[in-house]
Amino acid sequence: MNNADLIIIGAGPGGYRAAEYAAKQGLKVTIFEADNVGGTCLNVGCIPTKTYVHSASFAEARERMSQVVTQLRQGVEGILSHPNITLVHEKGVFVDAHSINDYTAPNIIIATGSETKWLPIKGVDDPRVVDSTGLLNLEALPKRLAIIGAGVIGMEFASVFNRFGVEVTVIEYLKECLPALDSDIAKRLRKYLEKKGITFHMKTAVENVADIDADVILMATGRKPRVQADFANAGIEYDERQGVKVNEHFETNVKGIYAIGDCNTRQMLAHAAEMQAVHVVNHILGKHDNIRFDIMPAAIFTHPEAACVGPTEDQLKESQTPYVCKKSFWRANGKALAMGETEGMLKLFASPEGEILGAHTYGAHSADIVQEVSVLMCKHTTLEELADMIHIHPTLSEILKSATE
Ligand SMILES: Cc1cc2nc3c(=O)[nH]c(=O)nc-3n(C[C@H](O)[C@H](O)[C@H](O)COP(=O)(O)OP(=O)(O)OC[C@H]3O[C@@H](n4cnc5c(N)ncnc54)[C@H](O)[C@@H]3O)c2cc1C
Repeated sequence: MNNADLIIIGAGPGGYRAAEYAAKQGLKVTIFEADNVGGTCLNVGCIPTKTYVHSASFAEARERMSQVVTQLRQGVEGILSHPNITLVHEKGVFVDAHSINDYTAPNIIIATGSETKWLPIKGVDDPRVVDSTGLLNLEALPKRLAIIGAGVIGMEFASVFNRFGVEVTVIEYLKECLPALDSDIAKRLRKYLEKKGITFHMKTAVENVADIDADVILMATGRKPRVQADFANAGIEYDERQGVKVNEHFETNVKGIYAIGDCNTRQMLAHAAEMQAVHVVNHILGKHDNIRFDIMPAAIFTHPEAACVGPTEDQLKESQTPYVCKKSFWRANGKALAMGETEGMLKLFASPEGEILGAHTYGAHSADIVQEVSVLMCKHTTLEELADMIHIHPTLSEILKSATE
C-alpha cells in the first residue's frame, strides 16, 4: 500500500480544485481519474457548450471547441503536476474505508460527478436520440432538432442550434421552462425564443420517441449522480437518485470520507463543486471559512442569458416571506441600446427593511449582473446602500442600480 494524506476520486472541478488547494496547504494528495482530467465541465459540459454559444457557425464551434478544451485540459494537467500530487489514471475503487485501489489515507473525497439521466420511454434506443455529449459530437448540422426537456441544458442547446439555423422544437412536461428561474422571467425568455423561431410544446409528455418528427433528438431530462456499488465496501450511505448522503461539511456517514460536487446532488454546478472542495479541505485541516452555500448564483447561457440568485417570487410567496420587488429593463439602459441588446428584465427582491434577498434576470450579460447581487448579499447590503454605490456609465451594471431608483 502507498500512503497519502488525502485520496480524491475524480478530477472534475470538484476533484482537481480539492487536489490543488490541499497540495498548496502541504497535504500529500493522490487523485484518481478514469478519463480525461477536467471532468464533465471541461470536456463535455460548461466549456464546450459555451464555445458553441460564442461561435457564429456550427463549423466554427466544432473547430474552436477542440482547441479550447485541449488548452484548458493542459492547464489542469499543469495544476495536477504539483510535487505534492500523484495523478493515477485508473478507476478508483473502495477496498475499505481508508483504501482506494493500492493507496491508503486518513481522508478520502469522492468527486465522481454525474451522468445523463435517460427517460425510460418507448423508443429511447432510436439512433436519432443523443445526450448532450452526443450532440456536441455531431459531425453535421441536423435540419430539425427536437429537444426533450426545457431545463438548463435543453434551453441552452435550443438557443444555440436555433442561431445556427436549425429548426428546433422543445417538448416539456412542465408548464414553464427553467423551473429554478422566476416563472415571470422564464416565461418572457421562452416567449422571446419563440419569436426567434423555436417551437415549444409545454405540458406535453413524450410517450414514444417514434412519434417525434426530427433528424436528431436530444435527451435533456437531467443528470443523475455517479455512484458505485463499491461505496458499500466502506459503509457509505448513498442512493441512485440523490447520490452520496452528506452533512453540512459534505462529510458522509463515515468519518473522514467526504463527497463533493454533482455526486451529492446538492447543487449540480461547477462553481458549487469547487467551493465544496475548498470547504472540505478546510474542514480536514481544522480551518474555519465563511463560504455561504445558501447564496449560489447560477446562469443559463441562452441568447440572451438568464441568471438568478436567491428565491423566486413564487417561493417568497409560498414561504410567506415579506418582500419588495424592484424591476428594471434592458431597453432603458444606454449600453444595452448601443449594443443592440434591448431584450431583458431584472427582478430584484429585498426585505421590507431593504436587505437584498436575490435577483432573477434575463438579458445580455445577466450572469455578471447577478454576480454583483451575490456579492451584495454576502455583505447584507440594502437597496439604499446599493443606490449610493457609483456604477460606471455606460454599463449594463447600471440596470441593477436603476432598480433601486
Ligand atoms: C452540457 C452541460 C453543460 C453544463 N454547463 C454548466 C455551466 O455552464 N456552468 C456550471 O456551473 N455547470 C455546468 N454544467 C454542470 C457541470 O459540468 C458540473 O456541475 C460539474 O462538472 C461537476 O463537477 P464534479 O467535479 O462534481 O464532477 P465531474 O465534472 O462530472 O467530474 C467527475 C470526474 O470523475 C471521474 N470519475 C468518476 N468515477 C471515477 C472513478 N471511480 N475513478 C476515477 N475517476 C472517476 C470522471 O471521469 C470525471 O472526470 C454543465 C453540465 C453539462 C452536462
